[in-house]
Amino acid sequence: MVESDGVGGLVTTTYRELADRVERYAAALLDLGLDIGDRVILESDTSGHAIALLLACSKAGVAFIPVSPETPDKRLHSIISTTAPALHLQSPTGARQGIPAEVGTARFGPNGLAVERPPVARVRHRREASATDPAYMIFTSGTTGRPKGVVMSHRGVVAFYRGMLAAGIVGTEDRVATTSPLQFDFSLLDIGLALGSGATVVPVPRAALPWPRRFLAFLNEAEVTQVNGVPSIWRGVLRHELAGLAELEKLRGVLFCGEDFPLPELRLLQRARPNARLVNCYGATESMAASFTDVPNPLPDELEKLSIGFAYPGAEMTIVDEDLVPITEPGVVGHIHLRAPSLFTGYWDDPEATRAAQVPDPLNPKSGQLVLRTGDLAYQGADGELYFCGRADNQVQIRGNRVELGEVERRILEFPGITAAAALVLPRADKEPVLGAFVVTAKDAQQISENEIRAFCKETLPAYMTPHELRVVDSLPVTPNGKIDRKVLAASVA
Ligand code: ADP
Repeated sequence: MVESDGVGGLVTTTYRELADRVERYAAALLDLGLDIGDRVILESDTSGHAIALLLACSKAGVAFIPVSPETPDKRLHSIISTTAPALHLQSPTGARQGIPAEVGTARFGPNGLAVERPPVARVRHRREASATDPAYMIFTSGTTGRPKGVVMSHRGVVAFYRGMLAAGIVGTEDRVATTSPLQFDFSLLDIGLALGSGATVVPVPRAALPWPRRFLAFLNEAEVTQVNGVPSIWRGVLRHELAGLAELEKLRGVLFCGEDFPLPELRLLQRARPNARLVNCYGATESMAASFTDVPNPLPDELEKLSIGFAYPGAEMTIVDEDLVPITEPGVVGHIHLRAPSLFTGYWDDPEATRAAQVPDPLNPKSGQLVLRTGDLAYQGADGELYFCGRADNQVQIRGNRVELGEVERRILEFPGITAAAALVLPRADKEPVLGAFVVTAKDAQQISENEIRAFCKETLPAYMTPHELRVVDSLPVTPNGKIDRKVLAASVA
């Protein structure tokens, strides 16, 4: 592992050192009397110590819940109150305060685990972790207005890693830059890809990411060969630093995930680094990911859409129509169902949402097998490969982050005096699309400023879920069948 030392240099951690750290952290967790199945909150950016700690959690049979230091207090408290963790862990520089008294607190870093408040004493009921036990829990946006906890088992993670590694994306000589916050499973994908291949993990400092020059300078200095991230990490580079990108001679691979990579931008990337292998990774947190598809090199001029290909070896995507009948004809849009050994265990404390996502296998409904109804739509190409074409619901991606518009709307509606709200993605020419919201206030409500609503959203929602554009309107337009007409709203901003 190679990472920034925070003062302009780089520090290296060998596999041996990492393994020793994992041992020490695992022993420290067990010393605290944690039981298998207990949960700990791991609040951190990706670092050598954070990686050691999450591996130690798995070793100790404790499920980790990664959380970013930027997470609003209220959101963290909602995660704490639903998951009742034994322990909250942060780095020596972590600034989080006010962790409820029933949760232990500790800091991790060069001196190991420094316990501030020990976890409440517990009776150990378990002796050995099973592959079916939860390895981690990732909180994503949820339609019900509270974050949804995706529980992933050890066997799910391992099966996913095996499938992913079969794609041979990196080798021992590679240095894999990881750019996603630790709280998204994309970072866990990067860590598994690098460590599973004997490669080097290189976390890109979060402060460097928004600055194309600093981003490229870091990649260059750390001699990165592979960069993983959502498409939007490249936007600034492709607009302002194409020459710098072309000079990044060591870069031979880019894996992107989370949303469509606009083809004009992908062409620029390919022109700047013609020998780089570009991989389109498609999937959702509920199975870590589903497919790894090479982008054609060179991209044919007439190509209009990238393929998301076929699921990773050992998994399969099937599309079915509204009546759950499998679609065999190319070009016909259907709902993607994924059968995979990395299917998540369930949503934490949400059996109803779990039942909606884990459904009987439409091809063999009597078998008792469950598959993932992804909520994604796709059609088949001539060889059965899939082409993603949007969502069947109101889930959107903002800079690669998953956002349920319903969760944003619910928060806005908690603002006193607001009676209706509609959130939507607003595309912008040549720029990153932003989240917009239209609100209607009660007749007798005092004047509400857009900034007040924004500040109110920020209290509980991460920055990418806070509306960038906000408009107070007299009423929301509706379509002939009475649904909010988001097209008309979007057009009113343009
Ligand atoms: P991740 O596992 O990448 O963190 P999320 O669970 O945040 O993903 O979001 C998953 C959704 O993102 C998918 O259901 C799909 O709608 C969209 N998505 C993911 N990868 C791609 C891709 N390569 N191309 C287009 N859309 C994608």
